[in-house]
Amino acid sequence: MQSLKNIKKLGIMGGTFNPIHYAHLLSSSYVFEKYNLDKIIFIPTGEPPHKRNINIASGEHRYNMVNLAIQDNPNFLISNIEIERDDTTYTIDTLRQIKSMCDEDTDIYFITGTDTINQVYNWKETENIFKLCKFIVTTRPNYVLDDNTKNLIDKHKNKIYFCEIPKLEISSTNIRKRVEQEKTITYLLPKNVEEYIYKNNLYKTDFFKKYEKQLNILKQNLTEKRFNHSIQVAKEAKNLAIQHNVDKEKAFLAGLIHDCCKCFPLPKIYETCEKYKFELDDILKKQPDLAHSFLGYYIAKDIYNIQDEDMLNSIKYHTTGRENMSNLEKIIYIADYIEPTRPYFDGIYEARELAYKDLDKAIQYILKNTIQFNTQKGRIIHPLSIEAYEYYKK
Ligand code: NAP
Repeated sequence: MQSLKNIKKLGIMGGTFNPIHYAHLLSSSYVFEKYNLDKIIFIPTGEPPHKRNINIASGEHRYNMVNLAIQDNPNFLISNIEIERDDTTYTIDTLRQIKSMCDEDTDIYFITGTDTINQVYNWKETENIFKLCKFIVTTRPNYVLDDNTKNLIDKHKNKIYFCEIPKLEISSTNIRKRVEQEKTITYLLPKNVEEYIYKNNLYKTDFFKKYEKQLNILKQNLTEKRFNHSIQVAKEAKNLAIQHNVDKEKAFLAGLIHDCCKCFPLPKIYETCEKYKFELDDILKKQPDLAHSFLGYYIAKDIYNIQDEDMLNSIKYHTTGRENMSNLEKIIYIADYIEPTRPYFDGIYEARELAYKDLDKAIQYILKNTIQFNTQKGRIIHPLSIEAYEYYKK
């Protein structure tokens, strides 16, 4: 870290920076200009007390990303004092350490957004924090301060300043989600940070590697086209699960396996029915191809070692649907319909849009289209689909 001597007005931009993005940089730059600071030092947090449960990249990665993001701005510095600390990160400890590195008369300004300032009353040694620094709070239109914060402002009248910044709807949470969903993050953060994220495989779990064994069995049992479709359904199901807060790993695996019996020739379908004592109803007898999802329940359990009842049911009902489906069942049903390599058909874009907004509305829309399509083709509609449509229509 560069020396902190001979700096009269020092800003501290503390953050988890998981990852750093343009809103962090823009607000720092506005504060720097408005309050005539000499330098701003970015301090990525160590293990923050308020974020123990979320997917945090290592301190080293977050430090490297901040370093890349600020490298062209001589007014911005970086410090690793928090990530080097073994125990929990508290701002009071950071301020004491920074203060000891500065001149006696250096003014320190701790920069926060409104969410953070609303928590400061609750931080360790709040009163001592105000002895060591002032706060600059970056605000966006319609910001709200809690009563506790208003009391804090009353108490420390000349120690909390405000700086209005343009509203940028960028958040680290959303960037992580987009990386995981394989969506673009370009223009949300500096290019070199984006490249760093991809190069280091941050914010993504490689389920294909984890389920290599299942993938190999599947490959031997499906045509190439069906295998590729299954991969797309797995990815789509994972993305929908992330969007709707459903277990992404279960969605991925159920999506991958959902068609495991789809390429069984007829004799094998009958053989499998016999083996698992599954009786074909009248409709399945006339359209035995439909049986693949019901048989998928047994094969997924026996051959692919899936024991979770919700995953097994999402495979079982992925063709017909049923009343009162679980969210995972809905996701597999929808992912099968909207996966990106499906050739274009009427209603696909509407279904894709609905799928990421409202699972029930998407199910209703897809059931309606599917029933219509199959009726036109002269196929018999399975009663489960009709019951499901009636159920979701309400
Ligand atoms: P963060 O999520 O990485 O965010 C860093 C700062 O950027 C926050 O002030 C945040 O504002 C702001 N920001 C994020 N997105 C923005 C956007 N789109 N537009 C404008 N501003 C945006 O960091 P954090 O995890 O909240 O941590 C902030 C600091 O508080 C850290 O230094 C941490 O160590 C400290 N902290 C200390 C204690 C303690 O000592 N007990 C407890 C908690 C946090 P918002 O505040 O509005 O999110």
